[in-house]
Order: sequence, then C-alpha cells, then structure tokens
Amino acid sequence: MGQKNRVFDSVLDLVGNTPLIKLRKVAENLKGNYYAKVEAFNPGHSSKDRIALHIIEQAEKKGVLKPGSTIIETTSGNTGFSIAMASIIKGYDCILAVSSKSSPDKIDMLKSMGAKVYVCPAHVSADDPRSYYEVAKRLHQEMEGSVYINQYFNELNMDAHYASTGPEIWKQTEGKITHLVACSGTGGTISGTARYLKEQNPNIKIIGVDAYGSVLKKFHETKEFDKNEIYPYRIEGLGKNLIPGATDFDIIDEFVKVTDQESAHTAREISKTEGIFVGYTSGAAMQAVKQLNEDEKFNEDDLIVVMFPDHGSRYMSKIYSDKWMNEQGFFDTENTEEAVGVQY
Ligand code: PMP
Repeated sequence: MGQKNRVFDSVLDLVGNTPLIKLRKVAENLKGNYYAKVEAFNPGHSSKDRIALHIIEQAEKKGVLKPGSTIIETTSGNTGFSIAMASIIKGYDCILAVSSKSSPDKIDMLKSMGAKVYVCPAHVSADDPRSYYEVAKRLHQEMEGSVYINQYFNELNMDAHYASTGPEIWKQTEGKITHLVACSGTGGTISGTARYLKEQNPNIKIIGVDAYGSVLKKFHETKEFDKNEIYPYRIEGLGKNLIPGATDFDIIDEFVKVTDQESAHTAREISKTEGIFVGYTSGAAMQAVKQLNEDEKFNEDDLIVVMFPDHGSRYMSKIYSDKWMNEQGFFDTENTEEAVGVQY
C-alpha cells in the first residue's frame, strides 16, 4: 500500500486501508484460500475507527457538529475508543455512558483518550432513567448541537463499510473473493461490506457469525424475534438481544453460531500460529470457518475473506489469561500445557 513511507497530518489519516493477510497454519487443513482483513491495523486498533470517522465527518458536512460540540455514545467497547480518538483530533468533547459491568481497565482506557465517562447501573432495565441508554438520550436532549452516534440504529454505520471496507477487499482480492465471513454485532460491517461486494459480483456469498445466546441467526431464518434465544454469553461485540436497525438481513446468505469456548481457543490459536494478535471475535469468525469446512461449504478454488475486527491487547484479562480460561472451564483438563501455566 505504500502507506508506511508517507508522513501523516494526524492518526485519523491512518483509518482504513488495512492489510489483507494470507492465513497459513490456521487454515492448513481447510479447503480453499483464506485471507484475514486485519482491522487491528487501524490507529484505534479496530474496525470501529471507520464508523467513528465516517459518522463524525457526515455530521460535520451537515453542519451539526461545530468546534467544541459534544459527541455522545453508549459503549465501553471499541466504538467508544474510536470516537474518543477522533474527538481529540477534531476538537470535540466525547461523553460515553457505559454500564457498571464494564471493567475498570476499559473505563480507564476511555478516560486516557480524553473521554468523559458516565458509569450507569447495570442492573436497571433499558427504559429506566438511570440506564446508560436513557442517560445518553437525556444528555443529548439537554446539550444543543450534540451528536448521538447510536451505532445500532444508524444507517451511516453500514455506509462507512460500504464506502471503505468493501472497495478495499474488492481491490485487494482483484475481484476474486468468493465468500465473506464476518461477525455481526450492530451488523454494520457485514451489511455495508456485503452491499458493495454484491454490487460488483452478486454471486459472492456472505456469511454472518452469531453467538449462542443471541437472536440474530433465528431472526434471519424466521423473521421472528425469539426471546427464548437470549441468554448470557461471554464473547463481546458479537450477537445481540435486539434486532439492530443497522443490519441488512436480506443481504446475508447464512448465519453460523459459535461457542464462547471454541472461539476463545481459536483466537489463541491464530495468535500463536499466525503471529497476528487478535481479539475474541476474530477467533469466533475463524471458528465459524472451521465449522463451515466440516459442512463442506467451500471448494479448493474459493477465496474466503475473514474479518478480524480488533486487537488481542484488549483481552489480556480474558481469553489471553490462563486463569480466566480456567475459571470459565475452557480447558478440558487441568493437565493441558496451557492449564499448567496457571500455577506460576
Ligand atoms: N467484533 C468486535 C470486537 C466488535 O466490537 C464488533 C462491534 N460490536 C464486532 C465484532 C461486530 O461488528 P459490527 O458491529 O459492525 O457488526
């Protein structure tokens, strides 16, 4: 890409244009050719840089955001970090209303990027005035000229990926991509990227990855919201307990569900075998690929692009902690090489 030899005005110039990296060892016994779109190469270390920048720049164009305005969102995750980063460069205040379930590490990370963080009680319902949704809404109403990003219901979320992720993948694969495998949270990544790719070649298959405990796969198949599908799970950023308006379900061909345990092990495997330090949902996407192989979904000539949404450093106290893995019961025996690591 020649990017590295350039001098940049700010970190924001580095958003997007992430590399596509051939997967070797982790794909050794799989049918087809596998490439990872490694979003950790964004300056905020995740794909959410794309939507933060796009939504902010669209609001600037419309004249909604002016120097000194406030941007509000309800997330302690990647999107919060990306909005905080963009706000620093562009001179906005950033307010993030987060749940008290968020880890102290995450809250400190957001504060390090200059965000004002409102920690709201996790045990109240979404419509309680103390919930992080309601707090964000109230602050937005009270602050004239503020912008509420609302990533789960913002059309511009998928627009960001239509404008950048899709064209990048099409160019990088020289139009040879046959399948896209991507985790679905807000659905912005998969929907926007798929829309662009299917416009180039409607035969490209789009596979969404969902969690056990989430409603997305069932909704895709039946168009019914089944609340019996909802139960707690550990993977963050993937699946949902509501139907996100930012997802275009019609453009997705199929959903695959993955478990917390297998996704965690596959993420660790990617890091150890490919030297790409990935987050939990990268493991989930690759785990879905393995399951699709068991079902013989791919041919030798297929070119499969797998989205790796973020960086492993955000999961040091989770999937990369042997102690945490053991506490979850994710090691089959206490005597595996990995479990032994717990003792020191
Ligand atoms: N992986 C991670 C780590 C995420 O934070 C998200 C966003 N919630 C996703 C995957 C899914 O991306 P999207 O919201 O675009 O569906």
